[in-house]
Parts: sequence; C-alpha cells; structure tokens
Amino acid sequence: MIVIRKASEMTSLAEKLSDKSIGFVPTMGALHKGHLSLVKKSSSENDITVVSIFVNPTQFDDPKDFDRYPREVEHDLDLLKQVDVDYIFLPSGTEIYPEKDEHHYELGEISLKMEGAFRPGHFNGVASVVKRLFEIVLPKRAYFGLKDFQQFRIIQNLNTNFNLGVDVIGCETIRDEDGLAFSSRNKLLSKEDRELAIHLSKTLRLMSENSTSMSHSELENLGKQYLTNYPEIEIEYVKVVDPESFERPSRNTRKGDRLALLAAKVGRVRLIDNMKI
Ligand code: AMP
Repeated sequence: MIVIRKASEMTSLAEKLSDKSIGFVPTMGALHKGHLSLVKKSSSENDITVVSIFVNPTQFDDPKDFDRYPREVEHDLDLLKQVDVDYIFLPSGTEIYPEKDEHHYELGEISLKMEGAFRPGHFNGVASVVKRLFEIVLPKRAYFGLKDFQQFRIIQNLNTNFNLGVDVIGCETIRDEDGLAFSSRNKLLSKEDRELAIHLSKTLRLMSENSTSMSHSELENLGKQYLTNYPEIEIEYVKVVDPESFERPSRNTRKGDRLALLAAKVGRVRLIDNMKI
C-alpha cells in the first residue's frame, strides 16, 4: 500500500500501468464498512485498486459543515491495510485545484432536485472533483455507493456528457446492525442522536412495507408522519421517485421499482438515506 500525494506522480504511475485495469474508489475519508465494501469490490474486479481520500471543499454549500467534517487519515490508513489496496491518493487542495474550476456542469434535470435543491452548488462541486480525479487516476472502473443514489446518477451523467470513458459502478448500501446506513457523518452524532438516527431507515422500511397498498403521495405522508414522532429530527424531504427519471413513478410500477429517499437533520448532523420500495 503506497501513499501518493502528487497528482503528476499519480498520473505517470497510472500511465505506466496502462496494460492493467485500475479500479478507483474516491472517498472523503473517515472510512467505514461502506467504503471498505467498495474497495473489496474494486480489488475483486481489477488488477490494481486506488483509493483517494480528499475532503472536497467545492461540494460543501456550508463552510461550517466543511470545517466540521471528520478527518482521521491515520485511522483510515490503518483500516485500508485490512483490505487489498495498492495505492492511496492523498492530495492537498492545490493538487486537485491548481486553479479554481469555474465551470458550470450540465448534469441534467436530476441535479436540480432533492440534494440539488437543498444544497445549491453541491453537485457542481461533486462533478468538478470527480472529473479531475478521473483525469488524474485514469481508472477503468470507478465505484460509488448507492447510499448517495442521486450522486451516483449524476456521476453517470457526467461520465457520459464528458466522454470520460470510465465504467461507473454502483454498490449496495452497507448498514449497521440496527439499520442505520454507515456514513462518515455518523461519527459526528451524539449518543442520543445516534439512537434517534435509526428512525431514518425505519421510515424507509415502513414505506416499503406499505408500498403496494398506498399511492406515492400517501407513502411520502406516511414517512413524514412517522418522523414527526421524533421532533428532534428535522425533515428536509421524504420522496418517492422513479430511480431513472427522478420523476413521480407511474402508477403501475412494481414493488422494488420505486425509490424512496429522505434527508433530515438529526441534531446538527444532516443525513440522507434511500431504499428501493
Ligand atoms: P464519501 O466518503 O462519503 O464521499 O463516500 C465515498 C463513497 O462511499 C461514495 O461513493 C459513497 O456513496 C460511498 N458510501 C458511503 N456510505 C456508504 C454505505 N453505507 N454503503 C455503501 N457505500 C457507501
């Protein structure tokens, strides 16, 4: 496991490895079992696996959120020793952005909804960093969690629109024993808020259990209603959409073909989750 800090060094290495398949897992660190599942999938499907750790400032709409974001690189490196990683790309801000990226990325209608609406500029920052990282690491395949479903769809759009030529692969959400989706932000939860946070996945499960007997708006109301039992949880959205178009699903979609998504603040910590229902 070799740590690389310079973008130019990463690229010349990737060029030298051009006869091998490079699998790439971009992360913002504070790693957990969700990240490790992506790494395992990459190393099972590629000759070489590269993991990047970079807390990308351009995707934070709130500077306080960026400052608070957990950073624990030494612990991350220890965790990565337990899986099969060849290179860790650990760049500074200026390695990624030698110049400010002023580009406005066209990412389709999907980018304006939900996370796009609640976090203005967020997906532009995601597109900017992912494009730059792909250009530095030159991967054949890149692995993203479906926990950030909308982000995954936007990266697929970015990859197509800019002909980046990477296989963008979505990986299942990994959850803790009580159902809470692993997230770096869970590390910021107080003990009480960690208890409350289980109601997010419980909401999605409740919506799933009722998905054949209720309309889409009834399901959204059911989810919101359930969460009002926990006034400490501040709901941003609870939505049911078609996972392709992110529009309302047509009435006759089958169970498992719709996506329920939610975002909420538990204490100071904003969490998102989703489930096929
Ligand atoms: P992040 O470090 O939060 O930017 O996440 C890096 C990658 O890990 C993204 O592709 C996330 O979607 C993915 N990821 C985060 N949490 C999970 C999880 N619980 N299960 C699977 N993938 C995840």
